[in-house]
Amino acid sequence: MSIAFSRRAAILGAAAFPMIRIVKAQSRPKFIAISSANRNNGGVNACAKAVEVMKAGGDTLDAVIAGVNIVELDPRDNSVGYGGLPNEDGIVELDASCVHGPSRRMGAVGAIRNIKTPSKVAQRVLLDTDHMFLVGEGALRFAKAEGFEEENLLTEESRIAWLAWKRSLRDKNGHTNWGPGLDAPPSQQKHGLLEDLRRDFPHVREAILAQAVDYAYNPPHGTINCIGMNEKGEMSTVTTTSGMAWKIPGRCGDSPIIGGGLWLDQDVGGAGSTGRGEENLRVAGAHTVVENMRHGMSPKEAALDALKRVARNFDNDEKRLALVELSFYVLRKDGEYCAASLWKSDAPGFAVCTDGHARAEQAVYLLERKG
Ligand code: ASP
Repeated sequence: MSIAFSRRAAILGAAAFPMIRIVKAQSRPKFIAISSANRNNGGVNACAKAVEVMKAGGDTLDAVIAGVNIVELDPRDNSVGYGGLPNEDGIVELDASCVHGPSRRMGAVGAIRNIKTPSKVAQRVLLDTDHMFLVGEGALRFAKAEGFEEENLLTEESRIAWLAWKRSLRDKNGHTNWGPGLDAPPSQQKHGLLEDLRRDFPHVREAILAQAVDYAYNPPHGTINCIGMNEKGEMSTVTTTSGMAWKIPGRCGDSPIIGGGLWLDQDVGGAGSTGRGEENLRVAGAHTVVENMRHGMSPKEAALDALKRVARNFDNDEKRLALVELSFYVLRKDGEYCAASLWKSDAPGFAVCTDGHARAEQAVYLLERKG
């Protein structure tokens, strides 16, 4: 057999059986969890918790849910769970979904109100029903039947941010219903939003008011996705979010959509997302990433390919894409992992915990902002 022939055969073989690259696992950590970074070290804490639960013999879905519960219950993360920024009516609506790899079961809730840990409700849908996705009033009734307590999810900080946003809304004459009346002294009309807030909330710290103004003009969003794998190679994933700030009531992004905000196939690996949900749904992002890996791509290639499809939907026009943030978190069955973002960022891109070592790492990216 000539060398040329055997090399060709090897190339053809790899193309014909792309799973070979996946099956040929190198030594991987026994326990691994990866997630979005999130503020206040939320991602690192979530991954550390997930690995701790798995090491103690816990199921992989219980583990990743215990991890993201930390972020859901933290009022300082205003993109997830308690303290999440509300919809345009000032009501917090949460979305969550999960996949249990070994049983291949899935559950999700969308636009659920008054429950701090929607990820746990999604898990109850997976475990206790033959349905997969409950929304709104029905999801809340289900959660209450399952023993979850209704609670107010709005914090003082998120309420002020919502009021600041309402005050920022103006009609075409520059008037807002949420500012001083038309008969108020003109000087007051000239005041900026920050001055209005200082006057109306004298007891609130300046940093909170300044952040509320920023959020009014640049509605923030955020989410946590976490994927875990134990020493047997069993995998699970969960995504949970309060979605886009100031959304129309009932809006669900990608997070509760299985195949969009997360996807996992026990034979291949898992993926999840954070960022502009609508753009992710247009490429069925998480599913696309996992299918790319099934066909032989590495986690990095798979995620960047999905991001290229997002860019293609904008005809690769970077000016329009500038408004889009989107990231994927990917864990392949052989332990290889990555996060990939549409835009380069200096902030830590994602969190990972291998065995006992939790840390933040940089994401790879598709595009770099110029200037
Ligand atoms: N993906 C979430 C959504 O669109 C928000 C985010 O991750 O920033 O609802």
